[in-house]
Amino acid sequence: MAETAPGSLLIRGALLADPGLRRAAPADVLITDGVIREVGTNLAAPGDARVMEATGCLIHPGLINAHTHGHGGLSRGQGDKWTLELLLAAAPWIGGNRALADKKLTTRIVAAEMVLKGCTAAYDLYYEFPLPTADGLDAVAEAYHEVGMRAVIAPMVADRTVYEAIPGLYDALPPALQARVDRLRLPAWERTLDAMRGVLANWRWAGKDIRAAVAPTIPHHCSDAFLCACRDLAREHKVGLHSHMGESKVQALTGIRRYGRTLVGHMDSLGLIGPDFTAAHGIWLDDDDLRLLRDRGASLAHNPGSNMRLGNGMFRFRRARDLGVTVGIGTDGANCSDNQNMYEAMRYASMLSKVQTPDPRHWAGVEEIYTAATEGSARALGFSDIGAIAPGMKADIVFLDLASVNWIPHNWSVNQLVHAEDGTGVRHVMIGGRMVVQERRLLTLDLAKVATEAEAARERLEALNAEFKDLYEKLEPVVASFCPAFAAQPYHLRQYLCDAPA
Ligand SMILES: [Zn+2]
Repeated sequence: MAETAPGSLLIRGALLADPGLRRAAPADVLITDGVIREVGTNLAAPGDARVMEATGCLIHPGLINAHTHGHGGLSRGQGDKWTLELLLAAAPWIGGNRALADKKLTTRIVAAEMVLKGCTAAYDLYYEFPLPTADGLDAVAEAYHEVGMRAVIAPMVADRTVYEAIPGLYDALPPALQARVDRLRLPAWERTLDAMRGVLANWRWAGKDIRAAVAPTIPHHCSDAFLCACRDLAREHKVGLHSHMGESKVQALTGIRRYGRTLVGHMDSLGLIGPDFTAAHGIWLDDDDLRLLRDRGASLAHNPGSNMRLGNGMFRFRRARDLGVTVGIGTDGANCSDNQNMYEAMRYASMLSKVQTPDPRHWAGVEEIYTAATEGSARALGFSDIGAIAPGMKADIVFLDLASVNWIPHNWSVNQLVHAEDGTGVRHVMIGGRMVVQERRLLTLDLAKVATEAEAARERLEALNAEFKDLYEKLEPVVASFCPAFAAQPYHLRQYLCDAPA
Protein backbone atom coordinates (compact mmCIF):
# COMPACT_ATOMS: atom_id res chain seq x y z
CA MET A 1 0.00 0.00 0.00
CA ALA A 2 1.10 3.54 -0.53
CA GLU A 3 0.90 5.10 2.89
CA THR A 4 -1.08 5.17 6.10
CA ALA A 5 -3.07 8.32 6.79
CA PRO A 6 -1.63 9.88 9.97
CA GLY A 7 -3.79 11.34 12.74
CA SER A 8 -7.30 10.49 13.92
CA LEU A 9 -10.47 10.19 11.91
CA LEU A 10 -14.00 9.55 13.15
CA ILE A 11 -16.42 7.99 10.65
CA ARG A 12 -19.89 8.92 11.79
CA GLY A 13 -23.39 7.90 10.80
CA ALA A 14 -22.73 4.78 8.68
CA LEU A 15 -24.40 1.40 9.02
CA LEU A 16 -21.92 -1.44 9.69
CA ALA A 17 -22.42 -4.77 7.88
CA ASP A 18 -22.53 -7.62 10.39
CA PRO A 19 -23.22 -11.24 9.42
CA GLY A 20 -24.87 -11.70 12.83
CA LEU A 21 -27.55 -9.11 12.08
CA ARG A 22 -30.19 -9.14 9.39
CA ARG A 23 -30.04 -5.36 9.01
CA ALA A 24 -26.83 -3.46 9.58
CA ALA A 25 -26.84 -1.25 12.67
CA PRO A 26 -25.39 2.26 13.03
CA ALA A 27 -21.76 2.31 14.17
CA ASP A 28 -19.14 5.03 14.37
CA VAL A 29 -15.53 4.07 13.68
CA LEU A 30 -12.57 5.85 15.23
CA ILE A 31 -9.29 5.44 13.35
CA THR A 32 -5.83 6.54 14.47
CA ASP A 33 -2.80 6.29 12.20
CA GLY A 34 -4.59 3.92 9.85
CA VAL A 35 -5.72 1.48 12.55
CA ILE A 36 -9.26 1.10 13.92
CA ARG A 37 -9.27 2.07 17.61
CA GLU A 38 -12.92 1.96 18.52
CA VAL A 39 -16.26 0.93 17.03
CA GLY A 40 -19.53 1.97 18.70
CA THR A 41 -22.46 4.28 18.71
CA ASN A 42 -22.21 8.00 19.35
CA LEU A 43 -18.42 7.97 19.71
CA ALA A 44 -16.92 11.29 20.74
CA ALA A 45 -14.32 12.72 18.40
CA PRO A 46 -10.96 13.34 20.09
CA GLY A 47 -9.88 16.98 19.89
CA ASP A 48 -7.58 16.56 16.93
CA ALA A 49 -9.78 14.12 14.97
CA ARG A 50 -11.18 14.82 11.55
CA VAL A 51 -14.82 13.82 11.20
CA MET A 52 -16.23 12.09 8.13
CA GLU A 53 -20.01 12.10 7.84
CA ALA A 54 -21.05 8.79 6.27
CA THR A 55 -24.81 8.88 6.69
CA GLY A 56 -26.44 6.95 3.85
CA CYS A 57 -23.51 4.53 3.57
CA LEU A 58 -23.22 0.87 4.49
CA ILE A 59 -19.63 0.05 5.45
CA HIS A 60 -17.91 -3.30 5.24
CA PRO A 61 -14.27 -4.42 5.54
CA GLY A 62 -12.41 -4.35 2.23
CA LEU A 63 -12.96 -7.61 0.36
CA ILE A 64 -9.85 -9.75 0.00
CA ASN A 65 -9.01 -11.58 -3.21
CA ALA A 66 -7.44 -14.89 -2.20
CA HIS A 67 -6.22 -15.78 -5.69
CA THR A 68 -5.47 -13.74 -8.79
CA HIS A 69 -2.75 -13.19 -11.38
CA GLY A 70 -1.51 -9.66 -12.13
CA HIS A 71 -0.15 -10.83 -15.47
CA GLY A 72 -3.73 -11.55 -16.58
CA GLY A 73 -4.67 -7.86 -16.76
CA LEU A 74 -3.50 -7.33 -20.34
CA SER A 75 -4.98 -10.68 -21.45
CA ARG A 76 -8.57 -10.04 -20.47
CA GLY A 77 -11.23 -11.35 -22.85
CA GLN A 78 -8.88 -13.27 -25.14
CA GLY A 79 -10.51 -16.67 -25.16
CA ASP A 80 -13.85 -18.38 -25.04
CA LYS A 81 -14.53 -22.09 -24.63
CA TRP A 82 -11.08 -22.55 -23.16
CA THR A 83 -10.42 -25.32 -20.69
CA LEU A 84 -7.60 -24.82 -18.21
CA GLU A 85 -5.30 -26.85 -20.46
CA LEU A 86 -6.20 -24.70 -23.50
CA LEU A 87 -5.53 -21.59 -21.43
CA LEU A 88 -2.09 -22.97 -20.53
CA ALA A 89 -1.45 -23.69 -24.22
CA ALA A 90 -2.47 -20.10 -25.04
CA ALA A 91 -0.22 -18.59 -22.33
CA PRO A 92 2.76 -17.72 -24.59
CA TRP A 93 0.40 -16.01 -27.06
CA ILE A 94 -1.61 -13.97 -24.54
CA GLY A 95 1.24 -13.31 -22.11
CA GLY A 96 4.48 -13.50 -24.10
CA ASN A 97 7.14 -10.90 -24.87
CA ARG A 98 6.24 -8.59 -22.01
CA ALA A 99 8.60 -5.68 -21.40
CA LEU A 100 9.15 -4.41 -17.86
CA ALA A 101 6.67 -1.57 -18.42
CA ASP A 102 4.03 -4.13 -19.51
CA LYS A 103 4.51 -6.06 -16.26
CA LYS A 104 3.71 -2.96 -14.26
CA LEU A 105 0.88 -1.92 -16.54
CA THR A 106 -0.93 -5.26 -16.44
CA THR A 107 -0.83 -5.25 -12.63
CA ARG A 108 -2.04 -1.63 -12.47
CA ILE A 109 -5.11 -2.63 -14.48
CA VAL A 110 -5.88 -5.54 -12.15
CA ALA A 111 -5.26 -3.54 -8.95
CA ALA A 112 -7.30 -0.58 -10.20
CA GLU A 113 -10.27 -2.80 -10.99
CA MET A 114 -10.06 -4.55 -7.63
CA VAL A 115 -10.11 -1.37 -5.52
CA LEU A 116 -12.83 0.24 -7.63
CA LYS A 117 -14.90 -2.86 -6.87
CA GLY A 118 -14.33 -2.87 -3.12
CA CYS A 119 -11.29 -5.13 -2.79
CA THR A 120 -8.35 -3.90 -0.72
CA ALA A 121 -5.87 -6.81 -0.64
CA ALA A 122 -4.96 -9.67 -3.00
CA TYR A 123 -2.79 -12.78 -3.33
CA ASP A 124 -1.16 -12.43 -6.74
CA LEU A 125 0.60 -15.36 -8.42
CA TYR A 126 2.67 -13.52 -10.99
CA TYR A 127 4.21 -15.31 -13.96
CA GLU A 128 7.29 -14.31 -15.92
CA PHE A 129 8.73 -16.42 -18.72
CA PRO A 130 11.22 -18.05 -18.61
CA LEU A 131 12.26 -16.97 -15.09
CA PRO A 132 11.07 -14.65 -12.35
CA THR A 133 13.13 -11.46 -12.26
CA ALA A 134 13.83 -9.04 -9.43
CA ASP A 135 12.90 -6.11 -11.71
CA GLY A 136 9.67 -7.76 -12.84
CA LEU A 137 8.44 -8.58 -9.33
CA ASP A 138 9.50 -5.15 -8.14
CA ALA A 139 7.41 -3.57 -10.91
CA VAL A 140 4.42 -5.65 -9.82
CA ALA A 141 4.88 -4.54 -6.20
CA GLU A 142 5.24 -0.95 -7.35
CA ALA A 143 1.92 -1.19 -9.19
CA TYR A 144 0.12 -2.35 -6.01
CA HIS A 145 1.94 0.34 -4.02
CA GLU A 146 0.88 3.05 -6.48
CA VAL A 147 -2.75 1.96 -6.46
CA GLY A 148 -2.59 1.73 -2.66
CA MET A 149 -3.49 -1.91 -2.04
CA ARG A 150 -2.08 -4.57 0.23
CA ALA A 151 -0.82 -7.67 -1.58
CA VAL A 152 1.04 -10.94 -1.36
CA ILE A 153 3.01 -11.45 -4.56
CA ALA A 154 4.31 -14.91 -5.39
CA PRO A 155 6.48 -15.61 -8.42
CA MET A 156 4.66 -18.50 -10.13
CA VAL A 157 7.18 -21.11 -11.18
CA ALA A 158 7.58 -24.56 -12.72
CA ASP A 159 10.23 -26.71 -14.34
CA ARG A 160 7.93 -28.63 -16.69
CA THR A 161 5.70 -27.32 -19.45
CA VAL A 162 2.10 -28.48 -19.65
CA TYR A 163 3.18 -30.85 -22.47
CA GLU A 164 5.68 -32.55 -20.16
CA ALA A 165 3.39 -32.44 -17.13
CA ILE A 166 0.33 -34.23 -18.53
CA PRO A 167 1.10 -37.88 -19.31
CA GLY A 168 0.80 -38.58 -23.04
CA LEU A 169 0.12 -35.01 -24.19
CA TYR A 170 3.58 -34.46 -25.69
CA ASP A 171 3.39 -37.79 -27.52
CA ALA A 172 0.01 -36.81 -28.97
CA LEU A 173 1.59 -33.84 -30.78
CA PRO A 174 2.90 -34.26 -34.32
CA PRO A 175 6.71 -33.97 -34.56
CA ALA A 176 6.61 -30.43 -36.02
CA LEU A 177 4.61 -29.22 -33.01
CA GLN A 178 6.83 -31.14 -30.60
CA ALA A 179 9.77 -29.19 -31.99
CA ARG A 180 7.94 -25.91 -31.46
CA VAL A 181 6.86 -26.64 -27.88
CA ASP A 182 10.42 -27.83 -27.12
CA ARG A 183 11.41 -24.19 -27.47
CA LEU A 184 9.08 -23.36 -24.56
CA ARG A 185 11.00 -25.67 -22.19
CA LEU A 186 11.72 -24.10 -18.83
CA PRO A 187 15.19 -23.62 -17.36
CA ALA A 188 16.64 -26.09 -14.88
CA TRP A 189 14.92 -25.51 -11.56
CA GLU A 190 18.16 -24.48 -9.86
CA ARG A 191 18.21 -21.34 -12.03
CA THR A 192 14.60 -20.53 -11.18
CA LEU A 193 15.34 -21.09 -7.51
CA ASP A 194 18.34 -18.74 -7.67
CA ALA A 195 16.14 -16.12 -9.32
CA MET A 196 13.51 -16.44 -6.57
CA ARG A 197 16.18 -16.35 -3.91
CA GLY A 198 17.33 -13.03 -5.37
CA VAL A 199 13.77 -11.68 -5.36
CA LEU A 200 13.17 -12.67 -1.72
CA ALA A 201 16.57 -11.48 -0.48
CA ASN A 202 16.03 -8.01 -1.94
CA TRP A 203 12.32 -7.59 -1.22
CA ARG A 204 11.79 -4.00 -0.09
CA TRP A 205 8.01 -3.89 0.28
CA ALA A 206 7.20 -5.87 3.42
CA GLY A 207 6.87 -2.71 5.54
CA LYS A 208 4.21 -1.51 3.15
CA ASP A 209 2.14 -4.67 3.51
CA ILE A 210 3.21 -5.92 0.10
CA ARG A 211 4.68 -9.30 0.93
CA ALA A 212 6.44 -11.92 -1.14
CA ALA A 213 5.58 -15.63 -1.34
CA VAL A 214 6.50 -18.68 -3.40
CA ALA A 215 4.13 -20.37 -5.87
CA PRO A 216 5.14 -23.69 -7.45
CA THR A 217 2.28 -23.35 -9.90
CA ILE A 218 0.83 -26.87 -10.18
CA PRO A 219 2.38 -29.82 -8.31
CA HIS A 220 3.10 -32.04 -11.34
CA HIS A 221 4.46 -29.09 -13.34
CA CYS A 222 7.33 -29.17 -10.84
CA SER A 223 9.82 -31.94 -10.16
CA ASP A 224 9.87 -33.18 -6.57
CA ALA A 225 13.34 -31.73 -6.08
CA PHE A 226 12.04 -28.33 -7.15
CA LEU A 227 8.97 -28.58 -4.89
CA CYS A 228 11.22 -29.34 -1.94
CA ALA A 229 13.47 -26.43 -2.83
CA CYS A 230 10.41 -24.11 -2.98
CA ARG A 231 9.35 -25.43 0.45
CA ASP A 232 12.77 -24.72 1.95
CA LEU A 233 13.01 -21.28 0.36
CA ALA A 234 9.58 -20.27 1.69
CA ARG A 235 10.34 -21.54 5.20
CA GLU A 236 13.78 -19.89 5.18
CA HIS A 237 12.23 -16.51 4.36
CA LYS A 238 9.07 -17.15 6.45
CA VAL A 239 6.78 -16.47 3.49
CA GLY A 240 3.68 -18.22 2.14
CA LEU A 241 3.40 -21.08 -0.34
CA HIS A 242 0.57 -21.17 -2.89
CA SER A 243 -0.23 -23.79 -5.52
CA HIS A 244 -3.11 -24.73 -7.83
CA MET A 245 -4.43 -27.98 -6.33
CA GLY A 246 -6.93 -30.19 -8.15
CA GLU A 247 -8.16 -27.36 -10.34
CA SER A 248 -9.05 -29.65 -13.25
CA LYS A 249 -9.94 -33.32 -13.49
CA VAL A 250 -6.90 -33.74 -15.76
CA GLN A 251 -4.75 -32.62 -12.83
CA ALA A 252 -6.42 -34.94 -10.34
CA LEU A 253 -5.99 -37.93 -12.67
CA THR A 254 -2.39 -36.95 -13.38
CA GLY A 255 -1.69 -36.95 -9.64
CA ILE A 256 -2.86 -40.54 -9.30
CA ARG A 257 -1.04 -41.60 -12.47
CA ARG A 258 2.25 -39.94 -11.54
CA TYR A 259 2.37 -40.35 -7.77
CA GLY A 260 -0.09 -43.17 -7.01
CA ARG A 261 -1.84 -40.79 -4.63
CA THR A 262 -3.75 -37.51 -4.70
CA LEU A 263 -1.96 -34.24 -5.34
CA VAL A 264 -2.62 -33.13 -1.76
CA GLY A 265 -1.25 -36.45 -0.47
CA HIS A 266 1.85 -36.00 -2.60
CA MET A 267 2.47 -32.39 -1.60
CA ASP A 268 2.01 -33.36 2.03
CA SER A 269 4.47 -36.24 1.73
CA LEU A 270 7.02 -33.63 0.59
CA GLY A 271 6.21 -31.42 3.57
CA LEU A 272 4.76 -28.46 1.67
CA ILE A 273 1.40 -28.30 3.35
CA GLY A 274 1.28 -26.26 6.54
CA PRO A 275 -0.38 -23.14 7.97
CA ASP A 276 1.48 -21.01 5.40
CA PHE A 277 0.08 -23.02 2.47
CA THR A 278 -2.81 -21.88 0.26
CA ALA A 279 -4.39 -24.39 -2.14
CA ALA A 280 -6.06 -22.68 -5.08
CA HIS A 281 -9.34 -24.07 -6.50
CA GLY A 282 -9.47 -27.48 -4.78
CA ILE A 283 -12.36 -28.70 -6.94
CA TRP A 284 -11.03 -32.24 -7.26
CA LEU A 285 -10.04 -32.71 -3.62
CA ASP A 286 -11.67 -35.62 -1.80
CA ASP A 287 -12.64 -35.68 1.87
CA ASP A 288 -9.25 -37.02 2.96
CA ASP A 289 -7.53 -34.19 1.03
CA LEU A 290 -9.78 -31.62 2.72
CA ARG A 291 -9.17 -33.13 6.17
CA LEU A 292 -5.46 -33.03 5.53
CA LEU A 293 -5.61 -29.31 4.63
CA ARG A 294 -7.60 -28.73 7.83
CA ASP A 295 -5.21 -30.76 9.99
CA ARG A 296 -2.20 -28.85 8.64
CA GLY A 297 -3.93 -25.48 9.15
CA ALA A 298 -3.73 -24.69 5.42
CA SER A 299 -6.21 -22.49 3.52
CA LEU A 300 -8.11 -22.97 0.30
CA ALA A 301 -8.85 -20.24 -2.27
CA HIS A 302 -12.20 -20.82 -4.00
CA ASN A 303 -12.48 -19.18 -7.44
CA PRO A 304 -16.03 -19.86 -8.62
CA GLY A 305 -15.98 -17.58 -11.70
CA SER A 306 -12.83 -19.13 -13.11
CA ASN A 307 -13.97 -22.65 -12.21
CA MET A 308 -17.13 -22.19 -14.26
CA ARG A 309 -15.44 -20.25 -17.06
CA LEU A 310 -12.85 -23.00 -17.63
CA GLY A 311 -15.34 -25.84 -17.15
CA ASN A 312 -13.42 -27.30 -14.23
CA GLY A 313 -16.43 -28.47 -12.23
CA MET A 314 -17.95 -27.51 -8.90
CA PHE A 315 -16.03 -26.89 -5.69
CA ARG A 316 -17.71 -28.38 -2.62
CA PHE A 317 -17.84 -25.27 -0.45
CA ARG A 318 -20.28 -26.78 2.05
CA ARG A 319 -18.23 -29.95 2.45
CA ALA A 320 -14.94 -28.07 2.85
CA ARG A 321 -16.41 -25.84 5.54
CA ASP A 322 -18.14 -28.73 7.32
CA LEU A 323 -14.79 -30.51 7.46
CA GLY A 324 -13.25 -27.39 9.00
CA VAL A 325 -11.11 -26.07 6.14
CA THR A 326 -10.42 -22.32 6.05
CA VAL A 327 -11.87 -21.11 2.75
CA GLY A 328 -11.17 -17.75 1.11
CA ILE A 329 -12.65 -16.45 -2.12
CA GLY A 330 -10.84 -15.22 -5.22
CA THR A 331 -11.48 -14.10 -8.76
CA ASP A 332 -8.49 -15.83 -10.41
CA GLY A 333 -6.75 -13.96 -13.22
CA ALA A 334 -8.34 -11.71 -15.82
CA ASN A 335 -6.87 -14.07 -18.44
CA CYS A 336 -9.31 -16.78 -17.35
CA SER A 337 -12.22 -15.10 -15.59
CA ASP A 338 -11.96 -11.68 -17.15
CA ASN A 339 -13.16 -9.40 -14.37
CA GLN A 340 -11.74 -8.85 -10.92
CA ASN A 341 -15.02 -8.36 -9.13
CA MET A 342 -15.13 -9.83 -5.63
CA TYR A 343 -18.85 -9.09 -5.29
CA GLU A 344 -19.45 -11.28 -8.31
CA ALA A 345 -17.11 -13.92 -6.87
CA MET A 346 -19.20 -13.99 -3.66
CA ARG A 347 -22.42 -14.20 -5.65
CA TYR A 348 -21.08 -17.05 -7.78
CA ALA A 349 -19.77 -18.87 -4.69
CA SER A 350 -23.23 -18.73 -3.16
CA MET A 351 -25.03 -19.78 -6.35
CA LEU A 352 -22.60 -22.58 -7.10
CA SER A 353 -23.14 -24.06 -3.66
CA LYS A 354 -26.90 -23.91 -4.08
CA VAL A 355 -26.93 -25.63 -7.48
CA GLN A 356 -25.27 -28.82 -6.16
CA THR A 357 -28.15 -30.32 -4.22
CA PRO A 358 -31.88 -29.76 -3.81
CA ASP A 359 -31.48 -29.84 -0.01
CA PRO A 360 -30.94 -26.29 1.32
CA ARG A 361 -29.44 -27.68 4.52
CA HIS A 362 -26.35 -28.44 2.42
CA TRP A 363 -26.07 -25.00 0.84
CA ALA A 364 -23.67 -22.23 1.82
CA GLY A 365 -25.40 -19.30 3.49
CA VAL A 366 -24.63 -15.68 2.65
CA GLU A 367 -23.00 -15.11 6.05
CA GLU A 368 -20.46 -17.87 5.36
CA ILE A 369 -19.73 -16.56 1.89
CA TYR A 370 -19.21 -13.03 3.20
CA THR A 371 -16.97 -14.32 6.00
CA ALA A 372 -14.96 -16.36 3.47
CA ALA A 373 -14.35 -13.27 1.27
CA THR A 374 -13.14 -11.25 4.27
CA GLU A 375 -11.76 -13.27 7.21
CA GLY A 376 -11.15 -16.47 5.24
CA SER A 377 -9.22 -14.70 2.50
CA ALA A 378 -7.25 -12.71 5.10
CA ARG A 379 -6.06 -16.01 6.57
CA ALA A 380 -5.17 -17.31 3.11
CA LEU A 381 -2.98 -14.21 2.63
CA GLY A 382 -1.45 -14.68 6.07
CA PHE A 383 -2.72 -11.35 7.45
CA SER A 384 -4.19 -11.25 10.95
CA ASP A 385 -5.15 -7.56 10.98
CA ILE A 386 -7.42 -7.19 7.96
CA GLY A 387 -10.83 -8.61 7.02
CA ALA A 388 -12.92 -7.06 9.80
CA ILE A 389 -13.98 -3.65 11.08
CA ALA A 390 -12.97 -4.02 14.73
CA PRO A 391 -10.50 -2.44 17.16
CA GLY A 392 -6.90 -3.27 16.28
CA MET A 393 -7.64 -4.01 12.62
CA LYS A 394 -6.26 -1.93 9.75
CA ALA A 395 -8.76 0.65 8.52
CA ASP A 396 -9.55 -0.95 5.15
CA ILE A 397 -13.17 0.08 4.70
CA VAL A 398 -15.58 0.12 1.76
CA PHE A 399 -18.45 2.62 1.75
CA LEU A 400 -21.47 1.52 -0.25
CA ASP A 401 -24.02 4.10 -1.31
CA LEU A 402 -27.39 2.98 0.06
CA ALA A 403 -29.07 5.24 -2.53
CA SER A 404 -27.64 3.02 -5.28
CA VAL A 405 -30.17 0.85 -7.06
CA ASN A 406 -28.64 -2.30 -5.53
CA TRP A 407 -29.99 -1.21 -2.13
CA ILE A 408 -33.54 -0.19 -3.01
CA PRO A 409 -34.96 -1.37 -0.71
CA HIS A 410 -32.41 -2.33 1.93
CA ASN A 411 -33.78 -5.48 3.58
CA TRP A 412 -31.00 -7.88 4.61
CA SER A 413 -27.57 -6.29 4.50
CA VAL A 414 -25.21 -9.24 4.09
CA ASN A 415 -27.60 -11.04 1.75
CA GLN A 416 -27.66 -7.98 -0.52
CA LEU A 417 -23.88 -7.61 -0.27
CA VAL A 418 -23.50 -11.16 -1.62
CA HIS A 419 -26.44 -11.35 -4.02
CA ALA A 420 -27.32 -7.79 -5.11
CA GLU A 421 -24.18 -5.64 -4.93
CA ASP A 422 -22.05 -5.72 -8.08
CA GLY A 423 -19.56 -2.98 -7.35
CA THR A 424 -21.68 -0.16 -8.80
CA GLY A 425 -22.68 0.85 -5.27
CA VAL A 426 -19.07 1.44 -4.17
CA ARG A 427 -18.76 5.11 -3.29
CA HIS A 428 -15.49 5.29 -1.34
CA VAL A 429 -12.71 2.86 -0.55
CA MET A 430 -10.33 3.52 2.32
CA ILE A 431 -7.12 1.55 2.84
CA GLY A 432 -5.13 2.15 6.03
CA GLY A 433 -7.36 5.13 6.79
CA ARG A 434 -6.45 6.76 3.48
CA MET A 435 -8.99 7.34 0.73
CA VAL A 436 -8.04 5.46 -2.42
CA VAL A 437 -11.44 5.74 -4.12
CA GLN A 438 -13.55 8.79 -3.38
CA GLU A 439 -16.94 9.52 -4.89
CA ARG A 440 -16.36 6.56 -7.26
CA ARG A 441 -13.10 7.99 -8.59
CA LEU A 442 -9.74 6.27 -8.19
CA LEU A 443 -7.48 8.90 -6.61
CA THR A 444 -4.16 7.10 -6.97
CA LEU A 445 -3.96 6.39 -10.69
CA ASP A 446 -4.88 8.17 -13.92
CA LEU A 447 -7.12 5.52 -15.49
CA ALA A 448 -7.37 7.33 -18.83
CA LYS A 449 -3.58 7.22 -19.11
CA VAL A 450 -3.57 3.53 -18.17
CA ALA A 451 -6.16 2.89 -20.90
CA THR A 452 -4.03 4.64 -23.54
CA GLU A 453 -0.93 2.72 -22.48
CA ALA A 454 -2.86 -0.56 -22.43
CA GLU A 455 -4.17 -0.05 -25.94
CA ALA A 456 -0.65 0.66 -27.23
CA ALA A 457 0.70 -2.39 -25.37
CA ARG A 458 -2.10 -4.55 -26.76
CA GLU A 459 -1.25 -3.63 -30.36
CA ARG A 460 2.49 -4.05 -29.87
CA LEU A 461 2.15 -7.40 -28.06
CA GLU A 462 -0.31 -8.71 -30.63
CA ALA A 463 2.31 -8.18 -33.33
CA LEU A 464 5.16 -9.57 -31.20
CA ASN A 465 3.18 -12.68 -30.26
CA ALA A 466 1.85 -13.50 -33.75
CA GLU A 467 4.02 -16.61 -33.94
CA PHE A 468 2.74 -17.81 -30.54
CA LYS A 469 -0.82 -17.24 -31.73
CA ASP A 470 -0.09 -19.39 -34.76
CA LEU A 471 1.40 -22.05 -32.48
CA TYR A 472 -1.71 -21.95 -30.26
CA GLU A 473 -4.01 -22.36 -33.25
CA LYS A 474 -2.12 -25.48 -34.30
CA LEU A 475 -2.01 -26.89 -30.75
CA GLU A 476 -5.65 -26.17 -30.04
CA PRO A 477 -7.24 -29.14 -31.87
CA VAL A 478 -4.81 -31.59 -30.24
CA VAL A 479 -5.16 -30.25 -26.69
CA ALA A 480 -8.92 -29.82 -27.09
CA SER A 481 -9.35 -33.47 -28.00
CA PHE A 482 -6.60 -35.10 -25.91
CA CYS A 483 -7.45 -33.53 -22.53
CA PRO A 484 -11.20 -34.25 -22.43
CA ALA A 485 -10.48 -37.84 -23.50
CA PHE A 486 -7.90 -38.08 -20.70
CA ALA A 487 -10.42 -36.58 -18.28
CA ALA A 488 -13.05 -39.16 -19.27
CA GLN A 489 -11.19 -41.71 -17.13
CA PRO A 490 -12.95 -42.48 -13.88
CA TYR A 491 -12.00 -40.59 -10.72
CA HIS A 492 -13.43 -41.18 -7.28
CA LEU A 493 -15.11 -37.75 -7.19
CA ARG A 494 -17.84 -36.44 -9.46
CA GLN A 495 -17.72 -32.66 -9.83
CA TYR A 496 -19.61 -32.30 -13.11
CA LEU A 497 -23.36 -32.50 -13.62
CA CYS A 498 -22.60 -35.11 -16.28
CA ASP A 499 -19.28 -36.60 -17.32
CA ALA A 500 -20.06 -36.80 -21.04
CA PRO A 501 -22.17 -34.69 -23.39
CA ALA A 502 -25.87 -35.52 -23.08
ZN1 LIG B 1 -4.70 -19.30 -10.80
